[in-house]
Amino acid sequence: MKYDDDNIFAKILRGEIPCKKIYEDNFVLSFHDINPQKKIHALVIPKGKYVDLDDFSENASPEEIVGLLKGIKIVAQKLKISTDKGKGYRALVNIGENGGQEVPHFHFHLFGGEKIGRMVQ
Ligand code: 5GP
Repeated sequence: MKYDDDNIFAKILRGEIPCKKIYEDNFVLSFHDINPQKKIHALVIPKGKYVDLDDFSENASPEEIVGLLKGIKIVAQKLKISTDKGKGYRALVNIGENGGQEVPHFHFHLFGGEKIGRMVQ
């Protein structure tokens, strides 16, 4: 799938649409989900143009891959949901149609602040 420059997260990255920013560095942007499914629901997205996890793992540089994973930890610590600062969280990625991915810019969901419950409903 070709990357769509008009997807909503691309617009957020370009500053065309506002977001409630949690963290930003050279590799990632993190912000609160507009429609939170749990007490804390954050999104962590790479700054690079990747459609989904498969695209990212195939085409991202080692620096981008490490940057994203480190970014998740930093965000979890900032939100006090990491296991060292809080009680843990769930990191989730939807991939493609069957995975329920709606926004075609690769992103992690971080859920926390309460028990997250069943893994798959
Ligand atoms: P997906 O289903 O693609 O894994 O998740 C997309 C997520 O993006 C959803 O949880 C949805 O609520 C969130 N979302 C969609 N549009 C916006 C937006 O404009 N701003 C923010 N902050 N989140 C959005």
